[in-house]
Parts: sequence; structure tokens; C-alpha cells
Amino acid sequence: ATPTAVMVATGKGASLGVLIKGGNALEKAHKVKTVVFDKTGTLTVGKPEVVSAVLFSHFSMEEFCDMATAAEANSEHPIAKAVVEHAKKLRQKLGSPTEHASEAKDFEVHTGAGVSGKVGDRTVLVGNKRLMMAFHVPVGPEVDDYMMKNEQLARTCVLVAIDGRVAGAFAVTDPVKPEAQIVVSSLRSMEISSIMVTGDNWATANAIAKEVGIGKVFAETDPVGKANKIKELQLKGMTVAMVGDGINDSPALVAADVGMAIGAGTDVAIEAADIVLIKSSLEDVVTAIDLSRKTISRIR
Ligand code: ADP
Ligand code: MG
Repeated sequence: ATPTAVMVATGKGASLGVLIKGGNALEKAHKVKTVVFDKTGTLTVGKPEVVSAVLFSHFSMEEFCDMATAAEANSEHPIAKAVVEHAKKLRQKLGSPTEHASEAKDFEVHTGAGVSGKVGDRTVLVGNKRLMMAFHVPVGPEVDDYMMKNEQLARTCVLVAIDGRVAGAFAVTDPVKPEAQIVVSSLRSMEISSIMVTGDNWATANAIAKEVGIGKVFAETDPVGKANKIKELQLKGMTVAMVGDGINDSPALVAADVGMAIGAGTDVAIEAADIVLIKSSLEDVVTAIDLSRKTISRIR
């Protein structure tokens, strides 16, 4: 495209809330055949809420929630915020709000798995089954059963281990964005296929994919795994767009031919992307590709 055409299209994009960072992204977007979507915060609202809590131990629900909160206190993850919020609400309901929630010592983040730390003299782990495995915490049939039931409902389970045993669990829901399904079907009508990648577990990922009409899913992938997935598709000769919101999406956003960041996403993702969807609406994935198609066809 000529510099003028790029400038016009970039200006048009900006007025629509689609920030295109350069002519290259604009030129490539019209060739996109596959759009890879991150799940949490991209296809879903990204504000998970605890909808169920269960104990597998003798701790009281308050003790249990307080320990989970202490472990999650310094985590940036949306699931951590859901756990902290749930514990706060429980305290309020019981009429014993904690003024200063305690924080775990030796706090550690285990990317794509959860957190660990010391609460008093107890070791607390909060995260998924992979985190439990990594710390050799057995996950019994009772826990498995709880997980399976909730994952089928598109919920993500958060296991809490205290001193090496699963003491209880939470189930969180993160609803899909209202426009997600329509965007996937619009893309299909443009002969563009949609794929989901996520760090979350397979069962939950499949349930969400079904809700939005995505047939191809890659779950339990770490940030490098997400980027590798993109590269694999490119090796098959496809021009690939990646849509994401998190730090964990940034390698994939860089690897993609066209990286699109959700405007409400993290700064790291926004920096890694070629296009920023300022309004955070998935509809603008279509807007961006459409704009590129129109610009390129007008030139040729
Ligand atoms: P996504 O790709 O869906 O954004 P992440 O890679 O951030 O997911 O995390 C993958 C999974 O790791 C989450 O679904 C969750 O099960 C677990 N996890 C990560 N961080 C935390 C945390 N702070 N507390 C609990 N679970 C966590
Ligand atoms: Mg995300």
C-alpha cells in the first residue's frame, strides 16, 4: 500500500478504536486465515468469581479462606483476586471482617500453575492440579470428582493445599464475552478459522470453546507453548493473527503475523501487539481485518 493509503486506513482505524501500529500490520491483516484467541480475559470477561467452595479437611471455612487469601495476597492473577474477594465477602457475612488480611512469607509465583507461600508455620499452595503435582501433593478421587463436575460447567477449579494435603477447593466462573460467539461466526463467514489457546485445563477450555463455537483448542499451554502453536500454524503456510490480553500472551503476540491486544489488557501485551483494540471488544478483530481487506483491495 502507498504511504497515503496506509495513513488514511490508520486514521480510519483510530477513529473506530482500532490502533494500528504500522503499515506492516495493516498489509498482513488482509491475508489472515487463522485467528488464535487466548481464553481468559480475551474470550472471557476476565473477572472470575468464586461460585463454590468445598472443604476436604478439618479446617473451618474461614480459616481455609484466610489461608488461601494470604497466599494469593500478592498475586496479580485474576483468579487470585476472585479468591481474595470471596474470602472478604465470607468475612463480612460472618460479621468478622479482617482489618488487615495477612500475607504469606516466601511468596512465589508458579506461572501457569498458581502460588505458594508460608502462612504462619503452614505451607500453603493455591493453584491447579499441575501445581499439586509439582509439589507432590496427592489429589484424591474426592477432589478429582469435584474438579470434573465443575470443569464440565466451564468453571476453573482452584485447589488449596495446606501442609502437603488438599484442604479444599474453589470453583470460579468467568463468563464469555457477549460478542464472542458472533465474532467467531463472522470470522467463519470470512473464511477465517478460530482457535483457542489457554493455560487453563482441557475440560474447562473445551467447555468455553463449545460456548463460543470454536472447534480447535490447545489447553495447558505456557507462554512459550502459545508462541510455538502460532509458529506451527505459520509453518503450514498460514497467516496467523493472535488476540490476547495478558503477559502470558506476549510471546505469541510477537510470534504472530498480526498480534492484537485487548485494550483493557496488560501493558506488556499492548506493547507486544501490532494492533490494539482500544474498546476491548472482540468485534474489532473483524473491524481490523475488514479495514485491511478494504484498503488492500482498493489499492490493487
Ligand atoms: P490463561 O492462559 O487462561 O490466561 P494462565 O497461564 O495465567 O491462564 O494460568 C493457567 C492456570 O494456572 C489457571 O487457569 C489457573 O488454574 C492456574 N493459576 C495461575 N495463577 C494462579 C493463581 N494466582 N491462583 C490460582 N491459580 C492460578
Ligand atoms: Mg488472558
